[in-house]
Amino acid sequence: MARLTFLGAAQTVTGSQYLLEANGRRLLVDSGMFQGEKALRLRNWADPEFDPAKVDAMVLTHTHLDHIGRVPRLVKQGFRGPIYCTPPTRDLAEILLLDAAHLQKEDAEYLNRKGLTKHSPALPLFDEADVQAAMELVRPLPLGRPQEVGDTFSFAYRDAGHLLGAASAEVTVRENGRETRVFFSGDVGRFDTVLTRDPEPAPDADYLVVESTYGNRTHPALSILDQLEGVLKKTFARGGVLLIPAFAVGRAQQMIYLMDQLVTAGRMRAFPIHVDSPMAIDATRIYASYPEASKASLNNIGGRSLLHGKWIQFHRTRAESEALNPMKGPAVILSSSGMLSGGRILHHCRVRLPHAENTLLITGYQAVGTLGRALLDGATSVRIHKGDVPVLAEVRDLKGLSGHADAGEMMRWLSSVHRAPRAVFVTHGEPEAAEALAARIGRERGFATRVPGPDESFDLAPGEAGGPGPEVL
Ligand SMILES: [Zn+2]
Repeated sequence: MARLTFLGAAQTVTGSQYLLEANGRRLLVDSGMFQGEKALRLRNWADPEFDPAKVDAMVLTHTHLDHIGRVPRLVKQGFRGPIYCTPPTRDLAEILLLDAAHLQKEDAEYLNRKGLTKHSPALPLFDEADVQAAMELVRPLPLGRPQEVGDTFSFAYRDAGHLLGAASAEVTVRENGRETRVFFSGDVGRFDTVLTRDPEPAPDADYLVVESTYGNRTHPALSILDQLEGVLKKTFARGGVLLIPAFAVGRAQQMIYLMDQLVTAGRMRAFPIHVDSPMAIDATRIYASYPEASKASLNNIGGRSLLHGKWIQFHRTRAESEALNPMKGPAVILSSSGMLSGGRILHHCRVRLPHAENTLLITGYQAVGTLGRALLDGATSVRIHKGDVPVLAEVRDLKGLSGHADAGEMMRWLSSVHRAPRAVFVTHGEPEAAEALAARIGRERGFATRVPGPDESFDLAPGEAGGPGPEVL
């Protein structure tokens, strides 16, 4: 009998890793990093519960580190099978994993230099050579193309709409002449959102594994373009600079697209946009090279793209970045990191926050303890690079740009499931969010649900699942 073990993203939102076993064969769906509190992060260092050399293949859903961040370490520990992902995920994963390796090296060096570690010396989870070794095992697989993995598993990707290249995985397990279908949602995107395509509706399957990041929440129904137009116009009327911290992959491209929309639609005159993040530049190029994978092409937005015009400038070197310091508004500086936890955005904050004409526009989730959270909570002075920086600039929050479906959108995504699965496993959510979505799926669809605990295993019965589910009203 097939067995499914939830090694990560069980009652938490990070560390996605699911192990599917049958006929002595093993398939891993995602191998993400645990992020957030220390107790979780320590799990990244624990030896895996399986022998990586005995895993036949990995199936990755998308490029966020909480889904791929443990892949190089597993390769270092002996994994040698193919690593499947979509072509855009392959390209984005390479820049994100190399960046993660670089940051870990810097962190380890810092801890060693300051004597802040019990381990001597402190080591990174993986290094650039481990990333290169992992990338050599990658086998890009387009959406919709079936792929055999030995004689036990096969799978195909479906568009998950969450990020460029993000996919759900529909896995078929063959055992003793019988088939069991297990569908892994990956991270499910929103409907009618910016740049990213709508998620493909969920299929019928014997078992569904469904994310629940916002399983107990509803995103605000505010127009993002209206909010952005308001902030831009107000800042520019003061002669200020709009500073946008944005995650380099995904959020930065959405922001470029939104600003282009405002100009293309004639709502604003063109204005200078400075993209100051080497990783955002690389990621934007990857977005532009897969025009069919997004709702709109970043190469040809509205027929007169800012990207092709003189208004958008990309800055790769530190000298180019520093040359922006004396610049007066109106202008936009887009830089990372998104939570102001590091990167060039810090230096722009130091220059721009003390002046009341400027605005800092937060575009994503800000974790507790980050500089971004402190600024959103109204700090009047912050510490940056060991100096006190007074905050006179306006601080605003752009609402509704989440890459994850909310509870209602998850139910809409599930409405295409007609045959009741044997079970819906609700994962990738804090306990309250996962329980709330599980309860709602049970109430509205009548499906059996489970919220797996960390490392919990389930035997999967083969063959046809139950009868037709109740119709969705
Ligand atoms: Zn994600």
